[in-house]
Amino acid sequence: MTKLSPEQEALKAGIEKSAGIWGAILGLIAGGIAYWALGGQSSAVRIGGAVAILVVVLIGIRSWRIKANSSAATCAKCSATFSITRTDHVEKVLSSEPKETREAQPDYSTKVTTWTEDLVETTNTYTCAKCGDTEAKVSQHTSKKDEKEAIEPAPVKEKPAAKSKPAAEPGVATSTKSKSGPKGSPKK
Ligand SMILES: [Zn+2]
Repeated sequence: MTKLSPEQEALKAGIEKSAGIWGAILGLIAGGIAYWALGGQSSAVRIGGAVAILVVVLIGIRSWRIKANSSAATCAKCSATFSITRTDHVEKVLSSEPKETREAQPDYSTKVTTWTEDLVETTNTYTCAKCGDTEAKVSQHTSKKDEKEAIEPAPVKEKPAAKSKPAAEPGVATSTKSKSGPKGSPKK
């Protein structure tokens, strides 16, 4: 195997590190599932099984990621290993359009969400450290920005008119005044 340059060594270390992280995360998930699946067993069997699955998944995922990333980092032109790195990253907004969603709420108001949706074109340029060969990869994705939420109040319901109390007619004597009269008898 040919000796790697410092850049290639750094790239190799980075690939191994991220592969190890992926392996650890997926290994922990698989180990957790195994621990749960062995629910009826003794705790020694459960822990042993979970650890065994964790180790198997960790090693499998790690070597798979290293292999995949290493082949991606191998130059197609000069076949140098760990020589391809991203050297440029450009994002360009191709179009942006306003968007809106309306969502009815339990209290009959409406939640109105508005945002601007950008169609973004990303160009990543990869360069070989050995022969200087460059390759541009273009991809597109949409991104949300300026997201705003507003609550539109519920439409005012027509209230039944009969409920309002009729105004007291003028001229009709109220009973309160006449009641106090007869009881307090004048002495003179
Ligand atoms: Zn090359």
